[in-house]
Amino acid sequence: MTNRELVESLIRGGYLKSPQIIKAFKKIDRADFVPEDSRHEAYINAPLPIGQGQTISQPLTVAFMMELLEPEAGNIILDIGSGSGWQTAILAEIVGKKGKVFGIERIPKLTEIGKNNIERYKFISSGRVEIFEGDGTLGLPDKAPFDRIIAAASGEKIIEAWKKQLKINGRVVAPIENSIFLLVKKAENEFEEKEYPGFAFVPLISDKDKEIPEWRKHFMKPNESR
Ligand code: SAH
Repeated sequence: MTNRELVESLIRGGYLKSPQIIKAFKKIDRADFVPEDSRHEAYINAPLPIGQGQTISQPLTVAFMMELLEPEAGNIILDIGSGSGWQTAILAEIVGKKGKVFGIERIPKLTEIGKNNIERYKFISSGRVEIFEGDGTLGLPDKAPFDRIIAAASGEKIIEAWKKQLKINGRVVAPIENSIFLLVKKAENEFEEKEYPGFAFVPLISDKDKEIPEWRKHFMKPNESR
């Protein structure tokens, strides 16, 4: 299989529709974002391990979320849980030279891997993409407001900081448990919300969760830290 065949199957399946998104999926080769020893699986429509217990998202999920996000040339986008960098690079291709994509990833090793992968397209050195190591549940207040915010890890609710850091008419696409949510900001405190159930994600882990509740300590093995 090739990257083009993967993209064509996503079009046939009805997941990819918009010309600018299709073009970016074709340009950004998924094999550049999977570990060396799983390159032969890069074009299968499945999530794949990228180390540290995390996965590169499933192609159909990324395609579906991108279509809801409606990224456009010139947009400033926040990508939470940038991981391998695949989705970040697709977004960077779409926003073009005048746009900007900020990625946040909480696992230091993945932050490095993601940056290296994204730089294959010169998006880091050209300044089009910046990747930060940290807790995406805080958003990125210094770089706000954003036209679009997308998250690849699933929490319990849409984070208030993301809603606040979004421009009017901006869009958030993020998972809550096993659903994808689309939020469109109509006015400062007014959001239109739509739910699309039936997906699977890795958990959104907030640094605040590091505090271990008393009841949990009681059940932990001697060497377990979380
Ligand atoms: N788009 C990425 C998805 C990786 S999986 C890709 O296709 O490669 C989701 C990522 O979210 C994981 O790498 C995980 O470490 C990260 N993550 C989870 N909670 C986070 C948080 N609070 N802040 C930043 N990243 C987080």
